[in-house]
Amino acid sequence: MNIYVLMKRTFDTEEKISVQGGKIAEDGAEFIINPYDEYAIEEAIQLRDEHGGEVTVVSVGNEETEKQLRTALAMGADKAVLVNVEDDLDETDQFTTAKILAEYLKDKEADLIIGGNVAIDGGSGQVGPRVAEQLNIPYVTTITSIKIEGDTVTIVRDVEGDSETIETSLPLLVTAQQGLNDPRYPSLPGIMKAKKKPLDELELDDLDLEEEDVEPKTETVEIYLPPAKEAGRILEGDVDAQVRELVDLLRKEAKVI
Ligand SMILES: Cc1cc2nc3c(=O)[nH]c(=O)nc-3n(C[C@H](O)[C@H](O)[C@H](O)COP(=O)(O)OP(=O)(O)OC[C@H]3O[C@@H](n4cnc5c(N)ncnc54)[C@H](O)[C@@H]3O)c2cc1C
Repeated sequence: MNIYVLMKRTFDTEEKISVQGGKIAEDGAEFIINPYDEYAIEEAIQLRDEHGGEVTVVSVGNEETEKQLRTALAMGADKAVLVNVEDDLDETDQFTTAKILAEYLKDKEADLIIGGNVAIDGGSGQVGPRVAEQLNIPYVTTITSIKIEGDTVTIVRDVEGDSETIETSLPLLVTAQQGLNDPRYPSLPGIMKAKKKPLDELELDDLDLEEEDVEPKTETVEIYLPPAKEAGRILEGDVDAQVRELVDLLRKEAKVI
């Protein structure tokens, strides 16, 4: 089975985020594999072990993305591909990323493409479905289970806490939801082996794409942090007095009643 995983490098949301010059400051931040993409990598490895074939992890990013791709190889993926857009593109959006990934995948005869349900930073959940649309293959999002028998694929997907079972066929794109599996940690032998596994680097040129072909369709107008929370106020006195003061504050200060 020819399996591809779409992997995004994201900054760790445990990091303290600051905004400088209208952009999220990345200096000194810790970068990780998007957590939903870890489920995608794990599922791809398990399906390959069950059905045979190969797992290739693909990412659109920059030179730094090699680190996360090596981690995916250490987990057990067979090959990695980095489409390095650092020198070609300043601004990108979901259209850009999906177009590049679809262009890379169009002649790969993928049986299964697995992405994350959503990136924990950009968070649009658009890339997977957009890639599938461009490749003209079916897609199922937020999956929590996948079973493949011949060409028949049975999937359970999470629908806001409920489950939906879907039967479909290969070739197919799915996006991983939390609960799909428990992603493994790379083992020491895995890390050693990963150093020798192929990691190819491509640029837009190699995909016969010009900058205009992938120009973003959206513009980020402003990025800002939520306003700092003010300290709460503790009312004093007996309960009757507190209730009177609260009603007064709601009327005069908060102006909500
Ligand atoms: C060089 C560079 C410049 C950028 N400039 C801007 C900018 O100017 N403005 C801006 O808003 N954003 C910018 N970005 C971020 C980027 O455009 C979006 O984050 C990206 O399109 C994915 O959208 P999302 O985060 O909503 O992903 P989602 O659609 O939420 O991600 C869902 C899934 O799609 C897959 N996926 C997402 N991104 C990638 C990827 N890069 N490679 C492989 N698979 C992926 C993963 O499987 C992921 O789990 C830039 C990124 C790069 C690499």
